[in-house]
Amino acid sequence: MTVMNSLRQWVRESIRIIEADFQRSADTHLIPLELPGLPGVELYFKDESSHPTGSLKHRLARSLFLYALCNGWLKPGAPVIEASSGSTAISEAYFARLLGLPFIAVVPASTAKEKLAQIAFYGGQSHLVDDPTQIYAESERLARESGGHYLDQFTYAERATDWRANNNIAESIFQQLRFERYPVPSWLVSSPGTGGTLATLGRYVRYRQHETRVLCADAERSVFFDSYVSGDRSLTLDCGSGIEGIGRPRVEASFLPEVIDAMVKVPDALSLAAMHYLARRLGRRVGASSGTNLIGAIMAGRYMLKCGERGSMVALLCDSGERYATSYYDAAWLRAQGFDLEPLIAAVEACAEHGAPLPGTLAQAGLG
Ligand SMILES: *Cc1c(COP(=O)(O)O)cnc(C)c1O
Repeated sequence: MTVMNSLRQWVRESIRIIEADFQRSADTHLIPLELPGLPGVELYFKDESSHPTGSLKHRLARSLFLYALCNGWLKPGAPVIEASSGSTAISEAYFARLLGLPFIAVVPASTAKEKLAQIAFYGGQSHLVDDPTQIYAESERLARESGGHYLDQFTYAERATDWRANNNIAESIFQQLRFERYPVPSWLVSSPGTGGTLATLGRYVRYRQHETRVLCADAERSVFFDSYVSGDRSLTLDCGSGIEGIGRPRVEASFLPEVIDAMVKVPDALSLAAMHYLARRLGRRVGASSGTNLIGAIMAGRYMLKCGERGSMVALLCDSGERYATSYYDAAWLRAQGFDLEPLIAAVEACAEHGAPLPGTLAQAGLG
């Protein structure tokens, strides 16, 4: 009989702890949202805010920890480090605490205070960086100097998740649609932070031989849309995104344009207006990227109508709005940023409920 060395035993016990946590968890809901302005198109939101740590990053964090453990990259007592705009760090702090590992989040100084409080709640430390484009280099430095491990979500998100199935977000959506009128959705709509969710969705529908197309809704201050259109992966911006969780100043390694069928670029004000509209319709606050996704879904839905198609669509509800009480949901904050959302909220409502066109012309690729 061979005896496992103590590191292997620690890895085995760590994986057991994460799997046991998963076993105690329930799946996230799929919520229908009626859109009378898009007759024949049925929209659902996959509500990722109902994970224990409040966002779709719960799935990613679990995958990244399992991937790092199975690769032999984590050691008892060695710090775990991540570059994050907040949501990933919250979920990773949760898993680091489960395993008894120190956790350090390298986050832009502009990150919502509520998110920093959540990281601390799960026992994580936040290391603030003034320039959001410096979070990567700073994470590498901290890992090197502390003997810790930099999880690097932006590189590994696309490969840490089992894209064929294993209860990933795509498999869950298709399971939950089984008894609907249109069980195979015409469109799946998501927005890019790491790009990992879009990679899982795009690969899964190909692997399962579905006709479902994947639409990526990008934020205003982000390079993904221009890179998708031009094919140039070297594009950069010198500022962070206005929509927390999505939009990046560089083309992240996990962003895989080949599995995306269409892209739209949504102005921040319109994302925020759609977020407020969605919150009113659902009776609870949602995050801004869910607003971006609603606009993406409306554009895909209007394209379906133009083509004479009927069917279903699923968009992601990425996180709850409680994290943004002092920003996106604060009238004084919105005013100080120069946003006047009420007319835009009315325009989103007119579009969703009466079929009016969206205000302005949105940049898009792949929607005819
Ligand atoms: C990360 C994130 C996204 C995008 O998901 P990815 O899989 O990283 O592309 C969308 N919304 C929020 C709030 C996020 O935190």
